[in-house]
Amino acid sequence: MRIGVLCSGGDAPGMNACLRAVVRSAISAGHDVIGLRHGYQGLSQEGLVNDSESAWTLDARSVAHIVQHGGTMLHSSRCQSFASQAGRERAAENLRRLGIDALIPIGGDGTLRGAAELAAIWTGQIIGCPATIDNDVIGTDFTIGFSTAVETAVNCIDKLRDTAESHQRLFLVEVMGRHSGYLALYTAVAAGAEVACVPEVPVDAKAIVELVSELKRRGKQSFIVVVSEGGEQGGAAALSRQLEQAGCEFPTRSVALGHIQRGGTPTPADRILGTQLGDFAVQSILDGATGMMAGQIDGELVLSPLARSIEEHKPLPNDLVELLRRMSC
Ligand code: ADP
Repeated sequence: MRIGVLCSGGDAPGMNACLRAVVRSAISAGHDVIGLRHGYQGLSQEGLVNDSESAWTLDARSVAHIVQHGGTMLHSSRCQSFASQAGRERAAENLRRLGIDALIPIGGDGTLRGAAELAAIWTGQIIGCPATIDNDVIGTDFTIGFSTAVETAVNCIDKLRDTAESHQRLFLVEVMGRHSGYLALYTAVAAGAEVACVPEVPVDAKAIVELVSELKRRGKQSFIVVVSEGGEQGGAAALSRQLEQAGCEFPTRSVALGHIQRGGTPTPADRILGTQLGDFAVQSILDGATGMMAGQIDGELVLSPLARSIEEHKPLPNDLVELLRRMSC
């Protein structure tokens, strides 16, 4: 059997571990792996051919010493044309021409949506692997890359807390997650931040200012608010202005962590998850599965329909929301 593999969408630390596992599991079972460069952009280009620039056979040594690196050795992309029927038809035609029997796309919810759409027009097997720092994919407790992104954000906030405390300031720290508050919430709990502002809950600047005043009376010298980026709520800079207008008692500063959160050395948790899911995706293909995503729920490796990633939004864990609130007293 010939298995194609690609990385798509926002890069996430641990993608390389997943890729390595796909290659080595398939080779261990006597199958071939074709690495497809530049995600769906590369896959849907006109007349894709088998060459080292775009689609070539990966052997066990070609994925040596990548488990410790962030990013992806296959390169990633965001691809407008793949969202169109014509783009996906070109991708399906390329897969047929390259003799690929099964495809493993590694990426976030957009990538998995794309995979579900491709499955409707291509007869080969597709098993997706969820890799995104947002952890917004249904069908797995954690996505590849989330653990590393939380660690990176927490390390940054530990540094900011020193300055916040020295100067008695309120820092608004913007993390990624336009549609999901997972990264903000986990980062806030781990960093000992006082508040997390997430896209799932409307921000109440007045309530934050009241909490700040109350905690100041109780002796707090500094304040950290973790804010999910952009979206309708406007991110850290916008919230900083709202807090000042609402009479915040601390001088405020806002910091956007931006792309710093994406890269870096993957944590052991992301390397292990990437390896498990990559291996599981290959085993699932060999068992005949298709149209599914490989995930891990309560420590068990599970498959869930790719179509679910289109239909459902992963809810925030309420217990963690409440835990953060209890810690801010
Ligand atoms: P991520 O996979 O990290 O969520 P994106 O949302 O940018 O990143 O999605 C990656 C790519 O997946 C897009 O650039 C596009 O090519 C493809 N994609 C996203 N959504 C769809 C969709 N609804 N239908 C088809 N392809 C899609």
